[in-house]
Amino acid sequence: MADLTKIQIPEDRKPTDGRFGSGPSKVRPESLDALRAVATTYLGTSHRQRTVRDQVARLRQGIADLFDLPDGYEVVLGNGGTTAFWEVAVFSLIRNQAQCASFGEFGSKFVAAVKDAPFLADPSVRQAAPGTAPELIAEAGVDAYATPHNETSTGVAVPVRRVAGADPGALMLHDATSAAGGLAVDVAESDVYYFAPQKALASDGGLWLALLSPTALERAHEIKESGRYIPTFLDLITAIDNSRLSQTYNTPALATIFLAAEQVDWLLSQGGLSWAAKRTAESASVLYGWAERCPVAQPFVTDPALRSPMVATIDFDDSVDAAGLAAALRANGILDTEPYRKLGRNQLRVALYPAIDPADVAALTSCLDYLLEQS
Ligand SMILES: *Cc1c(COP(=O)(O)O)cnc(C)c1O
Repeated sequence: MADLTKIQIPEDRKPTDGRFGSGPSKVRPESLDALRAVATTYLGTSHRQRTVRDQVARLRQGIADLFDLPDGYEVVLGNGGTTAFWEVAVFSLIRNQAQCASFGEFGSKFVAAVKDAPFLADPSVRQAAPGTAPELIAEAGVDAYATPHNETSTGVAVPVRRVAGADPGALMLHDATSAAGGLAVDVAESDVYYFAPQKALASDGGLWLALLSPTALERAHEIKESGRYIPTFLDLITAIDNSRLSQTYNTPALATIFLAAEQVDWLLSQGGLSWAAKRTAESASVLYGWAERCPVAQPFVTDPALRSPMVATIDFDDSVDAAGLAAALRANGILDTEPYRKLGRNQLRVALYPAIDPADVAALTSCLDYLLEQS
C-alpha cells in the first residue's frame, strides 16, 4: 500500500486544533493564556500560601457547582492521578470484598490492584468483552461496587446507577477519569465519583479528584479506625483533611490545578454539565454518523446505547490500513488518533471531550475522507 504519510491534506479541510488524544488531551489555549497571566505571581510560589490555596479552593468549589454536589458530599483531591486513587480506594474504601466491572484496560487495572491487596478478599469480577459492558449485580457480602463510567480504552460508556438490592452501606465507586466534565451524571447515584484532570477537564496529569458521599467519608474513617496499615500518602483521611484546608498532603503540580480550575469555570460559564454533555453528544453524532455512512468504517461499539460520547472508537475494513491513516493524520498535524495499543484492532480512537470543537470533529472526518480518496 502507498505511503499515506506522503499525502498532504489541504489546509482548508484541517481542524483548527489537531489534538484528538484521549489523554493527555487538548488544553484550551485560553487556559494557557490565563496561566501565563499569573506566571510570576502563582507558578513557583508556595503551595501553603493563599495564592495557591485560593486556586485549590476555586477548583473544589467549581467542581461542586459543576456536579451539583448533593448535601454532605465533599470534593477531595490528592496527588498521583487516578492510578494512585485506585490504591487509595484499596486501602481506604474497600472493607473486605469488592465487585468490579471489567470491560477494558482501565477497569481491569483496578481489578488487579484489588486482587493484589493481601488484606482484601478476591474481588468478584463481572467481565465483558471489549466493546460491550457487564452489569453489576447485588451480591451478599460485597461492600464496594466499582465500574468505569467511561472505559477509555474501548469507547464504552455506562450509566451511573446504584446496584439495586446491594447490602446496606455498600459503596458505589465510579472511575470517571474520561467522563467527568462531559457526561451527564447524577452524583447521588455514586459514593465515590473519581477522576483526573488530563481528560475532559482539559488540564494536565498528576492529580486525582473524588466526590465522596457521606457514606464513603464514614467508610474511610471506619477503616482507618480499624487499625489497617495505610501508607500516609494513600490514606484518604489525609487527603480529606488537607482538602478541607485547600491543600494537598505533598506538593501538587500548580499548573495542573490552575488549568483544571480554568476549564471548570469555562464549562460553568457555558452552561455547565448539561451544556458540556450536549456538546460532546454533538461531536459524537458527527463522528459516529460519518462512520455509519462510510462504506469502509463502522463504530466498534455495536450497541448505540453503549457508544461513548467522550471517546469514539471506529473500526475499519481490512482493505484500509487504520494505522496508516493515523500516521498520515499525524504527519499533517492531526494527533493521537491511534487506537488503544493493547486492543489490537484496525481502528482509530478519537476523543470528543468538551474542549474539542464539534466543528473540528467534522473537519477530522473531512480529512479522513480525503485520505481514503487519495489512498
Ligand atoms: C486515563 C485513565 C486512567 C488513568 O489515569 P492516570 O491519571 O494516568 O492514572 C484511569 N481510568 C480511566 C478510565 C482513564 O481513562
